[in-house]
Amino acid sequence: MKPLNDVITACPPSGIRRFFDIAAEMDDVISLGVGEPDFVTPWRIREAGIYALEHGYTTYTSNAGLPKLRRLICTDQASRYGAHYAWDTECLITTGVSEGLDLALRVLLNPGDEVIIPEPCYVAYEPCVRFAGGVPVTVATRWEDDFAVDAARVADAVTPRTKAILLGSPANPTGAVQPRASLEALVALAQERDLYLVSDEIYDRLTYEGRHSCLGALPGARDRTVVLGGFSKAQAMTGWRVGWICAPEEIAQLCVRVHQYTMLCAPHVSQLAAVEALEHADDDVAAMVADYDRRRRVFVKGLREIGLDCPEPSGAFYAFPSIRRSGLDSETFAERLLHEHKVAVVPGNVFGPSGEGHVRCSYATALPLLEEALERMGRFLASVN
Ligand code: PLP
Repeated sequence: MKPLNDVITACPPSGIRRFFDIAAEMDDVISLGVGEPDFVTPWRIREAGIYALEHGYTTYTSNAGLPKLRRLICTDQASRYGAHYAWDTECLITTGVSEGLDLALRVLLNPGDEVIIPEPCYVAYEPCVRFAGGVPVTVATRWEDDFAVDAARVADAVTPRTKAILLGSPANPTGAVQPRASLEALVALAQERDLYLVSDEIYDRLTYEGRHSCLGALPGARDRTVVLGGFSKAQAMTGWRVGWICAPEEIAQLCVRVHQYTMLCAPHVSQLAAVEALEHADDDVAAMVADYDRRRRVFVKGLREIGLDCPEPSGAFYAFPSIRRSGLDSETFAERLLHEHKVAVVPGNVFGPSGEGHVRCSYATALPLLEEALERMGRFLASVN
């Protein structure tokens, strides 16, 4: 048989899923492993989905998505962050940020173009760059700096083949929110070296200290920035598969071009549910954010009390403590913690080399379970130290 696609066969399966699959086979496991809200989608949003189904909204929509939803997204971005996009030419609805990321990279890259990615980072970034024909070039960030991206280090990685910088803030897996100064330095670098910026802002509403800055709203950034957003996290809508891209017209329209042939449109029912989410669910989102914040405080304090250094996670719903004091590497720590004390966390090295010595714990988990997980982790640490 002829060989299958080289790039895809060379791509390893996600390290997160491996742990998740082992944990799923065990009893009494507390999983801090998955990056998913433990809330179900707020009732009013589900009800909008039910209404849409009952009334037969079961067709395709326009390729770019429902005009009403695009209008709401652009109004929301403008009022929340001062990021201005024309709903009819600069915004499209995707099947989650996952599709948005894929579209943006396919539209920006020619074969062999390099994309600089600060790591540790979301596991899909490197594979998606490769699937789009590009070459990922990672740049380390350090927990001593709260994982702030150092533009000088990024500048050192720029070559004549560099096309774009891809980053997520607030970040998975670190919970870091990039300081405005770091973002501004990246924009200046992008202007100087003529680079595009791809900004994954899926966790924009999940910030606990200070406000999120939309990259597309920073001075000088708009013409070269693709902003990706969605409903999976803050609105607890992972299974609905709905997200969006805001970008300058030429890029947005080429994204629509790929999307119209590969996806046609995002699910109609989900788009109507997303309309409800933006029109009427701000209070539900605020209640969930307040709950994550409560859990975050308890969990981070608890990690520190059992002896794990933990950088302050100011966004998303992840803590990324250092486990160096255990003397174990990340994989061994996570494997032993799972088998010996039945707590599932994700080894930090799956998010890039700078993640070694850390584990990712999602605190999108009920408070009593987080407290029990802390106790089990404390017992585990006492047994290895
Ligand atoms: N970007 C980041 C940083 C994520 O953590 C995730 C999901 O975990 C995604 C994108 C995927 O989001 P969606 O459900 O909108 O495809």
